[in-house]
Amino acid sequence: MAKHIFVIGGVLSSLGKGIASSSIGLLLKKMGYKVVMQKFDPYLNVDPGTMSPFQHGEVFVTDDGAETDLDLGNYERFIGNPLNKKSNSTSGQIYDTVLKKERHGDYLGKTVQVIPHITDEIKKLITDIGQDCDIVMTEIGGTVGDIESLPFLEAVRQFRMDVGLENCLFIFLTYVPYIKAAGELKTKPTQHATTKLREIGIQPDLLICRSEMPLNEEIEAKISLFTNVQRSRVINAYDVSTIYEVPKVLMKAKIHERICEHLHLRQKNIDFSDWDKIIDNIKNSTDEVEIAVCGKYTEHQDAYKSVGAALTHAAAANRLKLKVKWVDSEKISSKNDIEKQMADVDGILVPGGFGIRGIDGKIAIAGFARENKIPFFGICLGMKIAVIEFTQNVCGLKDSYSSEFIEDCEHPVIHLMEDQKYLEKMGGTMRLGAQPCVLKNGTLAKNIYKKNEISERHRHRYEFNNKYRDIITKNGMQIAGTSPDDLLVEIIEIQEHPFFIAVQYHPEFKSRPDNPHPIFWNS
Ligand code: GLN
Repeated sequence: MAKHIFVIGGVLSSLGKGIASSSIGLLLKKMGYKVVMQKFDPYLNVDPGTMSPFQHGEVFVTDDGAETDLDLGNYERFIGNPLNKKSNSTSGQIYDTVLKKERHGDYLGKTVQVIPHITDEIKKLITDIGQDCDIVMTEIGGTVGDIESLPFLEAVRQFRMDVGLENCLFIFLTYVPYIKAAGELKTKPTQHATTKLREIGIQPDLLICRSEMPLNEEIEAKISLFTNVQRSRVINAYDVSTIYEVPKVLMKAKIHERICEHLHLRQKNIDFSDWDKIIDNIKNSTDEVEIAVCGKYTEHQDAYKSVGAALTHAAAANRLKLKVKWVDSEKISSKNDIEKQMADVDGILVPGGFGIRGIDGKIAIAGFARENKIPFFGICLGMKIAVIEFTQNVCGLKDSYSSEFIEDCEHPVIHLMEDQKYLEKMGGTMRLGAQPCVLKNGTLAKNIYKKNEISERHRHRYEFNNKYRDIITKNGMQIAGTSPDDLLVEIIEIQEHPFFIAVQYHPEFKSRPDNPHPIFWNS
């Protein structure tokens, strides 16, 4: 039977539960255990697919096409293994399942209630995901005290009783603020949050205390005393300059030893040298590379979480210090603007996105990169932008556009395919998840991937319009990758350019610190 670790948050949101969970997952994996990660999100949306990136940040897509919380991206990046749709459940999804069962008559006339029906469903998800692994790490979204997360906490409280103390560990992540005026680190919020957690029947087994600076012995002892958590299990996660250093901080505090002790797991040695090298590359590289990321969510960089991560991994692997220039494409109004903003950048990236806002700024930026031979990389919407710009300004199709933005434009070089139009009437048209792509010989893409066929994750509706294949190729834009049946264009490149490539998929989802994605890195 799998052992279970639950990570719960207190005091504040945004303390980095996802990073803490991922870091612990990495340490356990490095000890040789098979770890599976899972996140419960207390909101009522069935998945984050329809939520605005302004509010919720990036939607992370798994190989099996699930649209999930961005924390799953961290899990994959730290643990390395691809996750699937089982790794993210929301309250909405759980209620949906229970209500469907109720309509189906599965509850045999009983009154359907949060306890036990919702909580049983939650416990089932926890048990099911643990079928084929040694350890399940479950992160519970939200903060103790939220009404929404109560059913999850109740379910895990019961779960501990079901599986036994030695098979279940509660980790509570709290915050120890530094109050400048008093010159002191304060433990009270941690005490109160722990009391709140105990009120609902959960005594944490281990605390991770976030703080701006390292906690001293005295503070840790005080926290231990007031929270009923053994002194050795009060672990301090002080601020570090890169998230990839968090596992090291936790390892130095011997969190893995405490976990093994509690769960009766054999403790094994951890070889951290590969990650030490990554951390060193991130922190100590001196030569700078500056990449402009042009999008409309640039004020909310969580919307581009995986793109940022992939750039970090690639820069580190090339021993370069990464500087990202976030360019809001809605604010681009003239060529002058672009010239000013792009004067010193080493490369331009146009990431994914939806809707017409900021589109013309992006088109102008792609044109600037093409004309001035600045390295350009377009992702999903970024590929559409590159195609629109090229057809407008090189192929002479002045009114080319995407039917996503102007439905009846004269040259819809990007459009919905016929079968999608039918599907749209039925609801779901999104192309989601991992799909194969065949690379053409003699292309930049082939040179980067060094493979004939690749698999990458998708999340989009609109496709390149095959009617325009001839005209773009005649004018110097090459189709470097397609679906195996050659129906869908996956990669385009401009031959007469040192580096101009754009892809229909999202390579950023598959980049790892210890295995950077070749498109970001290998050029
Ligand atoms: N809005 C575009 C589409 O749906 C691109 C989506 C994206 O960039 N992920 O096709």
